Amino acid sequence: MISKRLEAAINAQINAELWSAYLYLSMSTYCQDAGFPGIANWFNIQFKEEQDHAMILLNYLQSRDGRVLLAPIDAVETEWASPLAAFEATLQHEQKVTSLINNLMALAVEEKDFALQTRLNWFVEEQVEEEENARDLIQKFRLIGDNGYGLYQLDQELAARVYTQATPLTTAE
Ligand code: MG
Repeated sequence: MISKRLEAAINAQINAELWSAYLYLSMSTYCQDAGFPGIANWFNIQFKEEQDHAMILLNYLQSRDGRVLLAPIDAVETEWASPLAAFEATLQHEQKVTSLINNLMALAVEEKDFALQTRLNWFVEEQVEEEENARDLIQKFRLIGDNGYGLYQLDQELAARVYTQATPLTTAE
């Protein structure tokens, strides 16, 4: 069993993760259209990872006999001034997600849901990485500035990123 408060909070976080997925898919298509297929690949992998995050929480809710309620996913932006602007928006967004995860963890502590805390520890670590990655890329874009060859090189670098499914504790069995 899971408390109603936690059930609602996990459902809200599932929605937030799916909104993140939608945001990154939008950024991916924007970068593709802007002529950066490698950066588009980077965002496309973010899109997949965010769906994994949603599924980890969804699986947990189901394994605790909670009710999954999928609320509508809000619209996302479709245009950015540049790939750099998209990464700046990514960092801002991930900082917000970090606080959502922290709030969920605080609630899990309050409700004494130790199994959820174990799973959320993974999310806490993941957020450190998400923020760091976005910051590193912003730094690279700023160094490169308007240098076409630099942008080409960075696009090539991000084209090499490969998706691996986030699987920590995805299945309870
Ligand atoms: Mg996430």
